[in-house]
Amino acid sequence: MSKDRSELLRRAEALLGRIVEWRRALHKWPELGYQEERTAAYVAQALSSMGLEVTTGVAKTGVVGLLRGAAPGRTVALRAELDALPIQEATGLPFASERPGLMHACGHDGHMAAVLGACALLSERRERLAGNVKFIFQPAEEMLGGGDALCKAGVLRSPDVDGIFALHLWPWVEKGTIGFSRGRMMAAFDEFRIEVLGRSSHGASPHLGVDAIVAAARGVDALQSIVSREVDPQDPAVVTIGTIKGGTATNILADRVELAGSVRTFDSATRKAIPERIERIAASVAGAHGANIRFAWKDGYPALVNQADAAERFYGAAESVLGAKAPFWLDRPSMASEDFAYYLQEVPGSFAFLGIGEGPNTPGLHTPDFAFDEQVLASAAAVLAGVALDTLEG
Ligand SMILES: [Zn+2]
Ligand SMILES: [Zn+2]
Repeated sequence: MSKDRSELLRRAEALLGRIVEWRRALHKWPELGYQEERTAAYVAQALSSMGLEVTTGVAKTGVVGLLRGAAPGRTVALRAELDALPIQEATGLPFASERPGLMHACGHDGHMAAVLGACALLSERRERLAGNVKFIFQPAEEMLGGGDALCKAGVLRSPDVDGIFALHLWPWVEKGTIGFSRGRMMAAFDEFRIEVLGRSSHGASPHLGVDAIVAAARGVDALQSIVSREVDPQDPAVVTIGTIKGGTATNILADRVELAGSVRTFDSATRKAIPERIERIAASVAGAHGANIRFAWKDGYPALVNQADAAERFYGAAESVLGAKAPFWLDRPSMASEDFAYYLQEVPGSFAFLGIGEGPNTPGLHTPDFAFDEQVLASAAAVLAGVALDTLEG
């Protein structure tokens, strides 16, 4: 059994008013990836007011706060995201987004407030701390890979990070609980584009053309066999064609169709093999119809794989702060993806899903109604502070 850290929760609950104030101020002013100027300035100011060494402009808009303990020791990092989404908020909350078409619909405002809350809890103990805590506020988590940019900018070095942790608000986990995983937690995400190139002709003379639409349609169907026939059934994978664009009129054969899709995988060998399979199948099917293809692949986020010891420590911190009923081991990974994966390729660490689920009608992430009970932010701050202490003292 881990040590009793329930005093962290009591202290976080006493600080909840301030945590909620941070969250609401950040919520009102959502900014897209790499444009988080005001958000970054707000976070930097909050970190400075707690006496941290603050670095701004890391990988454009990133902010890093460093809390140096009274004695030397290890370095642990806690991470939050600065960016919001191009979604029009529909919650009707009094502190709703003041920017039309933009919203913190992925809970990143809550993550920032929770990490600032952990900073408040830990900075109060600076005299008793041996080691450092880095508070990383990264830009552009949504699709743009700000985490990768931050790793490349050296955010995990000098002082070198021994462990990194982050929570994500999760509507599909029950409020009052936190889901952990000792390994695979979220999928790799990549994108591809296929252009099917035929030859146009009048609809009255189809035999004089090469119909790119028929070739593309057969291609979409054939690509479904990658997951069903070429991937180990025990190895989760998704191949999706998300958009099809082609054709100009009902009576003309299309000479060009563009298909765009995405792939989700866990196993790195599977991830590596899939582009060749998509291209082979798409080219062969198009070829059977006399058409050609052009294929393009774009690597996205790697799979998020927790380090087992770090996950155990994170779980233990949740248990010691919130009690034995709060943490649980997820029974399966999520097929969604997250750029926290990049940090975990560099240093040991763990991600976890902070439950905000209140029944089947809980709004999902990335929806205009997304909202959550702010009380969970006290738990989040306390658990993050707890795992930081456990890492420094462990
Ligand atoms: Zn998101
Ligand atoms: Zn997110």
